[in-house]
This record gives sequence, structure tokens and C-alpha cells, in this order.
Amino acid sequence: MHKTLILLTGCLVLLGGISAQGATKNPTPANKYRYAAKKAAYYNKSTSKYYRSIWTTARKTWNQSKAFTWSATKNKKSRSFTTTVAKNSGIWTNATGMAYNGLAFDKQGHQTGAAMYLNRTVLKKYRYTKKQRTHVAIHEMGHALGLSHNNAGSISVMNPSNRVHSLRNVDIKGAKKVYTTPISPAKALATAAKPSLTVDHLKDYSNNISGVERLVHDAGTIVEGTIIKSVPHHRAPKNYYTTQTIRIADKFKGQTGQTLTFTQGGTPQMAVTDSVVLHPGEDVVVMLGRTAAGKYYAINDGQGLFLDTHTSNGHELFEHVSDHVLYTEDMLH
Ligand SMILES: [Zn+2]
Repeated sequence: MHKTLILLTGCLVLLGGISAQGATKNPTPANKYRYAAKKAAYYNKSTSKYYRSIWTTARKTWNQSKAFTWSATKNKKSRSFTTTVAKNSGIWTNATGMAYNGLAFDKQGHQTGAAMYLNRTVLKKYRYTKKQRTHVAIHEMGHALGLSHNNAGSISVMNPSNRVHSLRNVDIKGAKKVYTTPISPAKALATAAKPSLTVDHLKDYSNNISGVERLVHDAGTIVEGTIIKSVPHHRAPKNYYTTQTIRIADKFKGQTGQTLTFTQGGTPQMAVTDSVVLHPGEDVVVMLGRTAAGKYYAINDGQGLFLDTHTSNGHELFEHVSDHVLYTEDMLH
């Protein structure tokens, strides 16, 4: 668990001006993966002319920046690839795209394979233009080459819910930094040498108190209770999610029975950035959405999950899984 904890107990006055508006200046941060050099070949698995051209434009956009060079290979065995899916269930619920870092590594711990996905169903449902879909493709390529998300509200292709921004200087600076930073010792890289997914959702709630207020607003169901069952589904490349069953102690929003089953990202073998797999016995507050088919899901994986891990003066404090900020129960409904 993250060591730095920020305690929010209702002192809203102290939190003014926390949002990341205005100019975005700092280089986009790195994730823990990188290729050996600032170049990689990928196989374009998309079969439609439309999506093939989206990935091609995304490749050319990165290449023009000189920060990283992608090349399209005809080698179907290439460990890096671009593709599309058409899904709106499980981990793909409301996901526009996904990056799968660390598919393969060399002996020094450099990534040799990463997968980049676009989700046709969600992009179509929310009427993304071809240009906007290309922005998502550039974003997924950014994750694959070693970039993490920029701040919520940032003017960056790596904005957590990017739709409108193309590659910006902050992203180019971030990518250049990844490939000019001395390579970490092999041992350190080996510990990072596990695959990880970053799922990109339509909306982002990573803005501390205001983000949680929007979560409370958008969630159709908010409950508190104990996890009694946890079943991972890992069937690449479509499923990387876990089905959780909660025994409900308190209902804060929505009508439910005494138990409720929902999905979240991740399996014991596969981490999703900003998510953790819940285990039986853990006490949680979950903010849930519901698919058209009536299935519940934790909103944006980690963003809709709050773990009861701390007690203060007899009160339970809930740790937001995605950013480790602590909240009192009454702030979550
Ligand atoms: Zn992303």
C-alpha cells in the first residue's frame, strides 16, 4: 500500500484551488515500463481500413515528435501490437481504450512487448469523431512507450479521460525524459517486470474531494459491506476482471438486496493501474454503475472503491484505492 496518506475529514476550506486548470507545464509522468531504446515495432491487427488508418496517424504523430519512433511491421509474431475490440462489459465497461504494458521483457528488464487497444463499442456509442479516436490511439501508444497519466484537467494527450487533446509538448517532454533517464539496474527492473493494464474510461474522477462528489453523484448505487466472494476471470485479451460479491451492511444509494455481485478490473495475475483486487473479509464502500444488461460494476475500477483500512477515534476511515486519500464514511454518500 502507498505510504503517503492524505487525510480528508471535511475541511473543505483547505482544499480550494486543488483542480489542475490552466497551463499544463510539467512533463507527463512516466510509468515503470520502457523499451530498450526510443523505438519499437508493432503489428497492426486491426482489419478495418478505418481503424488501420487511425493507428497509422497515431504512429506518424509520435514519430514527428522525435521523442519515440514507432514502426509498423508485417511480422504477426511481433510482441507489440495495436488492435480493436467491441465490448461494453466486464473490464471494458465504459472503457475507450486500454494499454497492456509488459507483455514481454528482455534480460535487462526492458519491455519488448506491449498491446494497445481501442474499444469500438464505446467510441461509437459516445460518438467520438475519427480525430478524437486518433487522440485515444496516441494516448494508448503513449502508455505503451512508457507514459503514465497526466493530471485530471491537464492539456495533454495523457489526460486521464482524453478525448480532445492531441500530442502536446508536455507529452513529448515526458517521453524524451523516459528515454534520456539512465536505465535502472536490472534488479530493480526485474521487480517491475510484471504485466499491468491501464484502462481508459470515458470520465475521470481523480480530483480528490470534487472528484468524489462527482462519483457520489454519478453512482447509481452506493453500499458498504464485506466482501464474501472473489472470482478472477483471466481470459486474454477480452477478460481481465474479478467478480466480487459483497454482503451489504449499509445502503446509501439505490435499491439492492442483502448481497450484491459486481465486477472490477484485475485478477491475481494481472494488475490494473489504480485498482486492487478485493479479498474476502475486506470491508469496503463501493460506488457502482449498472450496465444495460443489469450487471453492476465498480465505477472506473479503483475510482469507485474505498477500503476500510484505518480507524481514528473510533471512526472508520476509508482509503480511496486509486489515490490512497482517506475519507470518513459520511463523505462517501
Ligand atoms: Zn490512459
